[in-house]
Amino acid sequence: MPQIQAAQIPVTPFQQNCALIWDAETGRGTVIDPGGDVPRILVALDQVKFTVDRILLTHGHLDHAGGAAALKRELEARQGAPVPIEGPDRRDDFLLQGLVEQGTRYQMELENVTPDRWLAEGDTVSIAGQEFAVLHCPGHTPGHVAFVSPALNVAIVGDVLFRGSVGRTDFPYGDHAALIDAIEQKLLPLGDQIQFLCGHGPGSTFGEERRSNPFLNGRG
Ligand SMILES: [Zn+2]
Repeated sequence: MPQIQAAQIPVTPFQQNCALIWDAETGRGTVIDPGGDVPRILVALDQVKFTVDRILLTHGHLDHAGGAAALKRELEARQGAPVPIEGPDRRDDFLLQGLVEQGTRYQMELENVTPDRWLAEGDTVSIAGQEFAVLHCPGHTPGHVAFVSPALNVAIVGDVLFRGSVGRTDFPYGDHAALIDAIEQKLLPLGDQIQFLCGHGPGSTFGEERRSNPFLNGRG
């Protein structure tokens, strides 16, 4: 029986939740959105002691993706095996290739990153050995993806949906209507019971947000 466990590490000045998800039975797991503070992520990995089989990215913003290249390099050296970076959707490539430039604005030393595998709607990914569906949820960024497992009743939604809020869309490439559509037409129909982890602050359930999130207005 898998024993799935999760931990979140706030990274970067933006306090972004880097997620560690692993199976205590197999000792294998996945790191999601290592935006920075790679030494802190490595300390946390040393404490829970699992082999990282891949790094997943929900979208291309610096606080989610800025540490991915450095973490991959460090883990491959430690583990002596490839650690692929998977995601987001290819439409976020312009953000991933602008990480160095974005970082200089915040005095952060980041690296651009090109994933080993782009993700698209309908793909599946392995997280701690469990199969998760990939949902393309644009609006916050054009290539944002979410990972959902109806079997485990768990979703990882990045900056699409928060407890009591939704992702910001005041970027030149932002699209608020697309964001709300993705939440209401792709995420919420998966069921009120789904618990989610998000990029900032505490998680929640789809049911709680459907009922009380002011940005969703009780619809859905
Ligand atoms: Zn973001």
